Amino acid sequence: MATAAVLTEVGSPLEVRDDVEVAPPGPGEVRVKTGASGVCHSDLSVQNGTIPLPTPIVLGHEGAGTVLEVGEGVTGVAPGDRVVLSFVPQCQECYFCKRGQGFLCEKSAMAAMGGMLDGSTRLTSQGGALHQMAMCGTYSSELIAPEISMVKIADDVPLKVAALIGCGVLTGVGAALNTADIHEGDTVAVIGCGGVGLNVIQGAKLAGAANIVAIDMFDHKLELATQFGATHCVKAGEQDATGVITGATGGRLADSVFEVIGLEQTMNQAIDLCRQGGEVVLVGVPRMDVMMHLPAAFTFLYLNKSIKGCWYGSANVNTDVPKLLGLYSDGKLMLDELISAEIDQDGINGAFEAMGTGEVARSVVVYE
Ligand SMILES: [Zn+2]
Ligand SMILES: [Zn+2]
Repeated sequence: MATAAVLTEVGSPLEVRDDVEVAPPGPGEVRVKTGASGVCHSDLSVQNGTIPLPTPIVLGHEGAGTVLEVGEGVTGVAPGDRVVLSFVPQCQECYFCKRGQGFLCEKSAMAAMGGMLDGSTRLTSQGGALHQMAMCGTYSSELIAPEISMVKIADDVPLKVAALIGCGVLTGVGAALNTADIHEGDTVAVIGCGGVGLNVIQGAKLAGAANIVAIDMFDHKLELATQFGATHCVKAGEQDATGVITGATGGRLADSVFEVIGLEQTMNQAIDLCRQGGEVVLVGVPRMDVMMHLPAAFTFLYLNKSIKGCWYGSANVNTDVPKLLGLYSDGKLMLDELISAEIDQDGINGAFEAMGTGEVARSVVVYE
């Protein structure tokens, strides 16, 4: 039996159940004992309906754990191995994986169904099937995931740190290092300094940006942003971002602007803060009905701005997870500092509330 925090329907608090049965792993699947799971804004987005997924569902998509059992044909991991879960399976064989765009792997389309690669489910509770978010469901103490949804890591990496790699770090640092084209000495602006935004900031620093302008509504997030590498802070709603950025660039505006919230208003702000010939990287998750209305001539033609989507930090997990852990062990990537609270499964609803009000960077569920 496993215990899992379950979303029974959109808008409800999560229900912690201790009767969850885990079926044996099917071919190509792995049973994992979850070690830790980050509480990510996208989990909240499933709860409030921004991201539509079938219910009942075990949320959680940012996790790490230890392999308990492998299904037929699994060769890459064995019982006892530590793994980081990827919320996008990356098969390494399809058109996208072979072009270095594993974050768009053809196998990932089934994730929207809430089951495994074949659409079927592996967890049951109270006599019914439970779905798993992104083929992960890391709010369960045990889970089944495809082998291609995990990356083996060294035994000495703390699982609570490894867990964060799976979403927030790959997404944020990846946005700066993979999606964007940041040059030494550039000016970068980051709108939204939560868990992912802080990682964009440290990614921009790694990429060599000279000016990193953090924009957020909360003073404590701006303080954290400074620890992660921001050189300028702008309190949204009180201070003028344009003024700060023109001051830092001699009137030219930012080379790269990252929107890490997902609102129409801040996406438009990102485009306004971008210099001519610069790039806007959209990292935040908007609601399905959010539209962008842009002046075509004075965005793309005369001002030559590029707007890039950023899904999963444009990451190839099989190379980016080891790369990021290497940066961590070299002291170049801050991971421990991202964790603002360690909680158990009963604390997830409280963590959602804290996240909804912008209080915390990252709560992490730590299993025994
Ligand atoms: Zn996430
Ligand atoms: Zn693939």
